[in-house]
Amino acid sequence: GLAPEADSNVRDWLKGHDASFGHFIDGAFRPSKDGKTLSTREPATGDELAKIAQGSAEDVDDAVAVATKAQASWEGLGGKGRARHIYALARMVQRHARLFAVLEALDNGKPIRETRDLDIPLVARHFYHHAGWAELQDTELADYKPIGVVGQIIPWNFPLLMLAWKVAPALALGNTVVLKPAEATPLTALLFAELAARSGLPAGVLNVVTGDGATGAALVKHDGVGKIAFTGSTEVGRIIRAETAGSGKSLTLELGGKSPFIVFDDADMESAVEGVVDAIWFNQGQVCCAGSRLLVHEGIHDRFIARLKERMNALRVGHPLDKAIDMGAIIEQSQLERISALVGKGVEEGAEAYVPDIQTPENGCFYPPTLLTGVEPASTVATEEIFGPVMVAMSFRTPDEAVALANNTRYGLAASVWSENISLALDIAPQLKAGVVWVNATNLFDAGVGFGGYRESGYGREGGLEGAYEYLKPNAWSARKPRKPV
Ligand code: NAD
Repeated sequence: GLAPEADSNVRDWLKGHDASFGHFIDGAFRPSKDGKTLSTREPATGDELAKIAQGSAEDVDDAVAVATKAQASWEGLGGKGRARHIYALARMVQRHARLFAVLEALDNGKPIRETRDLDIPLVARHFYHHAGWAELQDTELADYKPIGVVGQIIPWNFPLLMLAWKVAPALALGNTVVLKPAEATPLTALLFAELAARSGLPAGVLNVVTGDGATGAALVKHDGVGKIAFTGSTEVGRIIRAETAGSGKSLTLELGGKSPFIVFDDADMESAVEGVVDAIWFNQGQVCCAGSRLLVHEGIHDRFIARLKERMNALRVGHPLDKAIDMGAIIEQSQLERISALVGKGVEEGAEAYVPDIQTPENGCFYPPTLLTGVEPASTVATEEIFGPVMVAMSFRTPDEAVALANNTRYGLAASVWSENISLALDIAPQLKAGVVWVNATNLFDAGVGFGGYRESGYGREGGLEGAYEYLKPNAWSARKPRKPV
């Protein structure tokens, strides 16, 4: 059932702010200079959750000035000094895990089971991991300096987790931050900034400017920012790359995907079917590394699809705070229409659509789990990222054909291989052009492992040592011996 108690904590927090939030700059909320606002809604009901500030170039300028002023003393704390603060942030997230989990579920529409068991624990883990890098910085990374002020722009699909992936390494390694959350899901970032200040993070070190793409564009253009870290669509990534070219700003891009999920004829069928559920129906398929192209060996194709359809009949779609559901709401109406149009296009192009006969709530933004079979490799649905709960299935005859189909994409974020034959799996995995390859698994994340894309999925890594380097610049130096002994 619903979780009325935790829900009421969120309502209290919103009420305490009159359901209206400014930008979080220099340790406190302040309204937009021009007074403009946006609203953020609950995808499951369409109700307004809160008003947020629509940031202008002036607001971005304010935040960058504050972050610039705060940077020297933050860097001056040294790695060990900063590690204390990053550990405190990790503990703060754990202390308020319930509040974050419920707020995230309401603002994004994803199941509370996922925010409680995955998003929020992974956020805490990310801060713990990066506190470790702060501890090691003075010895292991002594020849590197922080970049300075970094601008970070994140999407709506994992709002707090994407904040963690960006903010934890940036702060740990001595940078200060201006973060622009997605307009659809700004609330957990604002709660995080407020609680971070309360847990002793110095003012100005982490600033949040809310608003839409125009606010993000102002941050990208700002001269005071030494790096832009962006996660979002490939289209916007391309704009940002063009905008920053020649500016001297560092840039990392985490973009879209169309990741293959390859099932060989000797795969453990039950595990692989559960893998599909996790690959494409986790977070309603709104996952950049979702296994969204199912490639099945022709020898088991029909049996596998039949079993998968059966499994789909048992999926439950419902309100995010209902602990018994598998899928929540889609982020907003425009995305729902986009998903629906792509499925229509797939059918037009000759695919067969399967939608289980299950209930979805009448109101709100819900889309049922969907499977398209008989999909042509060159068709729209096989090549375009749908970013929704829609799996497209194709079959293959040989391992070489599986590899060719898998790599037949302009993306390259992740891939998943299912086989009980370890020689086959180890032969296939390195041939897949993707930032991460999972064997008999999917969607495994770890703060210690760099995550990022090949090709149009972007470049740069988040997590681990590779991710740490993205927030540093090498500072090699040497000195001649004095001529006279001193
Ligand atoms: P989006 O690109 O529309 O928006 C992402 C962010 O960029 C938002 O905060 C938005 O306000 C901002 N933005 C929009 N236009 C901008 C501009 N011109 N300049 C600067 N900022 C701008 O993406 P979305 O719809 O929020 O997210 C979905 C996309 O994100 C999908 O393609 C998905 O694959 C991708 N994604 C990638 C990863 C990854 O790690 N590779 C993770 C999550 C999501």
